[in-house]
Amino acid sequence: MWSNPGIGIRGQPWNHVQMPVTQTTSKRLAIVGGGPAGLMAAEVASKAGLAVDLFDAKGSVGRKFLIAGKGGLNLTHSETRPGFDARYRERAAEVGRWLDDFNGDALREWARGFGIETYVGSSGRVFPMDRKAAPLLRSWVRRLRESGVTFHVQHRWLGWSENGDLRFATADGERCVAADAVVLAMGGGSWPELGSDGAWVEALTEHGIDVSPLQPANCGFDIGWSTHLAQRHAGAPLKPVVAHWRDAKGIEHSQQGECVITATGIEGSLIYALSADLRDAIARHGEARLTLDLVPGRELERLQRDLGKPRNGRSLSEYLRRQAGLTGVKTALLLEILNKDELHDMSHVATTLKRLPLRLTAARPIAEVISSAGGVRLGTLDDGLMLRKLPGVFCAGEMLDWEAPTGGYLLTACFASGLRAGSAAVRWLEKGSE
Ligand SMILES: Cc1cc2nc3c(=O)[nH]c(=O)nc-3n(C[C@H](O)[C@H](O)[C@H](O)COP(=O)(O)OP(=O)(O)OC[C@H]3O[C@@H](n4cnc5c(N)ncnc54)[C@H](O)[C@@H]3O)c2cc1C
Repeated sequence: MWSNPGIGIRGQPWNHVQMPVTQTTSKRLAIVGGGPAGLMAAEVASKAGLAVDLFDAKGSVGRKFLIAGKGGLNLTHSETRPGFDARYRERAAEVGRWLDDFNGDALREWARGFGIETYVGSSGRVFPMDRKAAPLLRSWVRRLRESGVTFHVQHRWLGWSENGDLRFATADGERCVAADAVVLAMGGGSWPELGSDGAWVEALTEHGIDVSPLQPANCGFDIGWSTHLAQRHAGAPLKPVVAHWRDAKGIEHSQQGECVITATGIEGSLIYALSADLRDAIARHGEARLTLDLVPGRELERLQRDLGKPRNGRSLSEYLRRQAGLTGVKTALLLEILNKDELHDMSHVATTLKRLPLRLTAARPIAEVISSAGGVRLGTLDDGLMLRKLPGVFCAGEMLDWEAPTGGYLLTACFASGLRAGSAAVRWLEKGSE
């Protein structure tokens, strides 16, 4: 019989190994996953005097955080609340409660504690001055070690043993570890080579935990270009453009930004920002419709006037360049979408340039996208992010069922949920795990 994991169960199961822990209290908290969420849970628990063991499947912690540093480490966003909370869409209320304890300003203050100042970029995104993750992560891990957190790398969590201990696959075989409480912070399903591969879903669903399927978020989409466009223009940036799309309620939205043509379709910051609506539309209708204004600086009437002028023997590309400022990939897209006859109708060309219709057929695979949606459903957790069905087991970070666009909103919610789960685990253990 499986017994409740993590609740003061300190039996000696098969192959049980007593972990070397710097123990300051008799209570032991295990944290599984050393991303921002798990490390934040470790910080709050070690500050409270708990003995903390942090386990990670990889040979070092914070690998995805380090990769985020390659893009400048967009730590958080300067947007004020409640606008900030609204970025979490249907989960705004729940995530908002985590942000009550630790918001973007708190995150900047926390970084300052390591001597790392931040600045607000022109888009409102917040970055460390040096735009790097490694110095912050190094200082953070050092401070955690000094405060007594013990790191156990190359420990892949497999689930619970019959008597409720945590099972890990290690280079020396399987180890079982008893803990008084556990914070699970194993991330989502994107970039599995960095450690978060979503394999935890099975272990949790086996124990009756309701997990919404992991799905791509902040992702590119397939369109299915002609070979010509794919070969000649993959990697070409499209900027600036305005995207128009409809949400699930049929309400039309518009957003200006930048995107990139890929060999199979389209990606980039503008597309990531719409990706939840587009992905959901594909799930509902088998495709998503998106239109792009390729010439946002010109009104349709003016464009129609400009394109109404005689061609005087110029090639179409040259004419479009002179009359509409259209070059490179934008011209190629027009030629991709319109047939020969349509290209002779300049009024139709003008309309198409203002509303280039794209049919998106699939989101890119989860392994290659920035983040994942889905995860442990928030309704299965109490206010301290403890699984109601498994008292003593807390969850945090991207493995929870929320999503947000890029812009620092992802990391902020991971930090905030880690703090909430860690604090709640401390309170739960102090209360005596009743
Ligand atoms: C390329 C890229 C750039 C990004 N840039 C930004 C950015 O600039 N700003 C932003 O806000 N967000 C960014 N993100 C997203 C952000 O990095 C993640 O949302 C965040 O790291 C998630 O934190 P987490 O702690 O929940 O999980 P993770 O950081 O994924 O950490 C989970 C940890 O759990 C471990 N683990 C997983 N399974 C197991 C197991 N079975 N046993 C033991 N350990 C396990 C993993 O090894 C990993 O160390 C970026 C993501 C990517 C891929």
